[in-house]
Amino acid sequence: MTFPTINAIIDEIKSGRTSATQLVESTLADIKARDGAIGAFLETFDADALAQAAAIDALVKSGAELPPLAGVPVAIKDNMLFAGHKATACSSILVEHTAAYTSTVVERLIGAGAIIIGRTNMDEFAMGSSTETSACQKTYNPWDVTKIPGGSSGGGAAAVAAGFVPVALGSDTGGSVRQPAAMCGVVGMKPSYGRVSRYGIIALGSSLDQVGTFTHSAEDAALVLSIIGGRDEHDATSVDRLWGQVCPPSFSGLRVGVPKEYFVDGMDDEVRNRINEAIEVMKQAGAEIVDLSLPLTPYALPTYYIIQPAEASSNLGRYDGMRYGTRAPGSLEASYVNARGTGFGPEVKRRIMLGTFILSAGYYDSYYKKALAVRTAIRAEFDDAFKRVDVIVSPTAPGVAWNIGEKMDDPVAMYLADVFTVAANIAGIAGISVPCGLAHNLPVGLQFLAGSMQDEKALQAAAAYQNITKWHDQHPLV
Ligand code: GLN
Repeated sequence: MTFPTINAIIDEIKSGRTSATQLVESTLADIKARDGAIGAFLETFDADALAQAAAIDALVKSGAELPPLAGVPVAIKDNMLFAGHKATACSSILVEHTAAYTSTVVERLIGAGAIIIGRTNMDEFAMGSSTETSACQKTYNPWDVTKIPGGSSGGGAAAVAAGFVPVALGSDTGGSVRQPAAMCGVVGMKPSYGRVSRYGIIALGSSLDQVGTFTHSAEDAALVLSIIGGRDEHDATSVDRLWGQVCPPSFSGLRVGVPKEYFVDGMDDEVRNRINEAIEVMKQAGAEIVDLSLPLTPYALPTYYIIQPAEASSNLGRYDGMRYGTRAPGSLEASYVNARGTGFGPEVKRRIMLGTFILSAGYYDSYYKKALAVRTAIRAEFDDAFKRVDVIVSPTAPGVAWNIGEKMDDPVAMYLADVFTVAANIAGIAGISVPCGLAHNLPVGLQFLAGSMQDEKALQAAAAYQNITKWHDQHPLV
């Protein structure tokens, strides 16, 4: 079974074989019928989606030129603002929060004719690797509903894996698009820092956050990124750079680096086998395989878990029940304490405390400043590596999807799921995960990294890999 690509959907709409309204109605009906067992969606935006579809159908009838994503249903993560709709980051402190304005990514999608179908489940404030810290609901992996879908954007990954929508947006601060994409057997792309606007995305770690895509193909990812990416005057860190063509999707002459530090003890043997097989496929297809060493790799995870909680503790200061969040009764101080004490879940509290400690006088130099120095060194190490290779290949995660509940009492085990993804966020470079087979009957993700602003190279390698393999056409039977 293959799920339709974005272009196939657009063809259907353009030719009039299917109307946008029919497509939206069948998408909504499908979600209602099947999502009870998966829990990808928190809410569907039926009325708005149908209104958007009617507008597209009117355009088709008028014979006017259609926008590039005309009629394509897209799911968004619950941390992306869409005016008039709830955006809660799956936290109790924001249960009542309705977006007052629309994020740039959503605005650009709508401008391009895409239809926002609904919002998807996530870890609370995007802190987690399994979507289980969500205060809203659980999401189950469509491949095996006893397993987690990955996280933090687990709802979006599951929505695409189950075939509800061809595209979902996620956010990736340390792997939250690539890791759930790997666990659910779909393509997950995290662009270089700055290539997509963060305006209207509920912030986690502002120097790490980047919006990414879940799709079935690298080509679809490139298409969506070409719409949502580029400079935005509302985000000073966004870069004035258009997305280029991803061609040719070929390995011929492509230099693919294999860093030995990403093939560590403790990773699943079957996962290692799938990655080695993928490297062999690339070699046969004409890639030049280059052995690399990135000695700072073991420092990426500890560095991330200093910088990220520090930034999170500062970003989450605004949720105090006064400016945002449900106001708790009592004196001013009691109100703060009650709002935050009851509004945040355990993982969020852990990171706020950790981050506040890291930034406190006396510890700032020994933790935060040191982490920033290591960050600079990691970035330099990648810069150096990308002088020798076009892309770096690695596993996306050290294992496959684990049992629901398995790591909830062990935060460090949960953090280790990010061991191969966090470096890209620390360095601000591009990363994409593509399906490369199964291990223990569950999907395995292959990660391609490319230098900052070299996203097209990661997409090119991923597209080339998908051209010669068919793993992405394997879908769960849900
Ligand atoms: N799992 C990582 C964390 O818990 C990454 C989260 C993310 O990318 N939003 O921080």
